[in-house]
Amino acid sequence: MSDIIVTDNDTLDRETAVSKSQTPNGHAPYGVAGMFVDDAHIVCAGCVSDEEWHNEDNSVMFGDAESDYPGTLCADCEKPLDTHILVYKSQDPKLFFRLRMSEELGEYNECLTIEQIAEKAKEKAYEMGYAEASPIEGEYGEGGEFADSKPEVPTDSARWANILAPKLRSIAGYEDSGYGTYQELPIDVVHDIYNEDVSTAFREGYYDCAEGKEQ
Ligand SMILES: [Zn+2]
Repeated sequence: MSDIIVTDNDTLDRETAVSKSQTPNGHAPYGVAGMFVDDAHIVCAGCVSDEEWHNEDNSVMFGDAESDYPGTLCADCEKPLDTHILVYKSQDPKLFFRLRMSEELGEYNECLTIEQIAEKAKEKAYEMGYAEASPIEGEYGEGGEFADSKPEVPTDSARWANILAPKLRSIAGYEDSGYGTYQELPIDVVHDIYNEDVSTAFREGYYDCAEGKEQ
């Protein structure tokens, strides 16, 4: 998996500096994010003066430009210019994680908080546990074996090791980066989400289904 995520201010829910849809000469398919004034600083379309805007010596920064997080800021209003924003795993690991997990959990234009990620991961894990227990429903039925004892979650099967556990880890934020990935024990938020939220929720879903409770 790549160590850079391309995002934008909307996704990061930040107030963006003013941009323009055209250059002084008219043509700007991706819009104008800002203008380099006197080669010294860059200002947004809201802060640039008319004189500067029409000065042919000043060049523009287009909206399809890429800036490293936190982005290029307007020298006047200090808001980030409306360009693509690159977030590096090595530099902003937490933000990178939030963006990656937002996509993993189906939110492509949002940067979920850690709490929201935990909540969504929990829901998914519950559903997986519920679905996983479904096939045994007929076997046990109402008032059957599960009435007084908890069913065993089959964690010793090949299906668990090869399919379920990796899936659960991935919805909690572990990356499958090849051999050895899951032997590591990261002491971070991912580890907490996996152990306290996802694992527990999976079991709850499994038990509820086995015991015939509504999802
Ligand atoms: Zn500005």
